[in-house]
Amino acid sequence: MARFQTLDDADLAGKRALVRVDFNVPMEDGKVSDDTRLRAAVPTIEKLRAGGAKVILLAHFDRPKGKPVPSMSLKPIAGALAKVLGSPVAFAEDCIGPVARAAVNALEPGDVLLLENVRFHPGEEANDRKFADALAANGDLYVNDAFSAAHRAHASTEGLAHRLPAYAGEQMRLELDALDRALGHPERPLMGIVGGSKVSTKLDLLKHLVTRLDKLAIGGGMANTFLYAQGHDVGASYCEKDLAETAREIIGLAGKNNCKLFLPLDIVVAEKLAPGAAARVRDVGSVDEDERILDAGPETVERLCRAMSNSKTLIWNGPLGVFEMKPFDRGTVEAAQYAAGLVKAGKLVAVAGGGDTVAALNVAGVADDFTFVSTAGGAFLEWMEGKTLPGVAALSR
Ligand code: ADP
Ligand code: MG
Repeated sequence: MARFQTLDDADLAGKRALVRVDFNVPMEDGKVSDDTRLRAAVPTIEKLRAGGAKVILLAHFDRPKGKPVPSMSLKPIAGALAKVLGSPVAFAEDCIGPVARAAVNALEPGDVLLLENVRFHPGEEANDRKFADALAANGDLYVNDAFSAAHRAHASTEGLAHRLPAYAGEQMRLELDALDRALGHPERPLMGIVGGSKVSTKLDLLKHLVTRLDKLAIGGGMANTFLYAQGHDVGASYCEKDLAETAREIIGLAGKNNCKLFLPLDIVVAEKLAPGAAARVRDVGSVDEDERILDAGPETVERLCRAMSNSKTLIWNGPLGVFEMKPFDRGTVEAAQYAAGLVKAGKLVAVAGGGDTVAALNVAGVADDFTFVSTAGGAFLEWMEGKTLPGVAALSR
């Protein structure tokens, strides 16, 4: 893995630390409804405070498109963060210029200041030189703790790393270590599970993974396209028929790279997607024309679990079925619980990510039992596709 400077390498006493965090939290009625991301920033903030630094937090919220939008202010988040930290958090109504400067000058070592939404300025997303200089003017060092924003080359995620001594924060370090264990330098055999609705959104992912994995299980709606490509009738299922050739290409690529592919053996079908709909198990290839494939079947799940138990590392993105609706959550839930059991027994390193995947692991009640669950969304997917993330590359030494 590329090497990064961490906070253990930094001389912090009295320094102004500009810290990029991910505070793009869900809000309801002006209140933070889930403070997971605020809590994720605590280890970095506390480490900086303990070292005697002045902590200056930079973050974006929503998509104000380069101008101030009052409903997208970070101000309510300062209060929520103060509660999480159990100590005061100052707020400045601009992230650059005299307002920010005055707030920074008022800080004592150990104090915490949150600056207003960096995306209120067009220079942020443009990674504009002058804007990055203006941000850098308020710091002696830069800490990036927002892996989830690292796939963007913005001023606060990338530009700052070229202007100040740059360090990976504690959450960033945790995430990069986990991802390295999963795909960078994994213990083998290395298995992947890729599901979800569409092949079209995960082409790059599949093409990259077959070159890295020892085995790959394909599930969810996207498996229908693979089954169709192999000549099976998929009835009224969701299926991207125009991608049949691409699916065959991926099957060929897997063969060339000695990646064993697991496609469904049996599936769960129903005529309608409705709660408690009459669900039937069918072998692939015996789906009626009015039936829709909505989950992996029991034999498929069993084979998948066996493959997991013969693996050392698992990387998972995308549910195996329509987990939002019972009983079509069963395949995903059973596979997830089995993986969690292996992790708890010390037999498997399991790393998962993706918005719906995290939701599905929560349905299964095992999100905390996986080795690591990434909530980074787009950045996680781009990393799984083998792409270089600009925010991470800028930290590399
Ligand atoms: P993630 O957000 O974790 O990357 P995706 O967005 O790719 O995952 O996929 C999640 C969606 O895939 C879920 O909404 C789920 O209902 C859907 N899905 C899974 N299996 C099927 C299926 N057989 N038919 C239709 N949709 C499916
Ligand atoms: Mg999704």
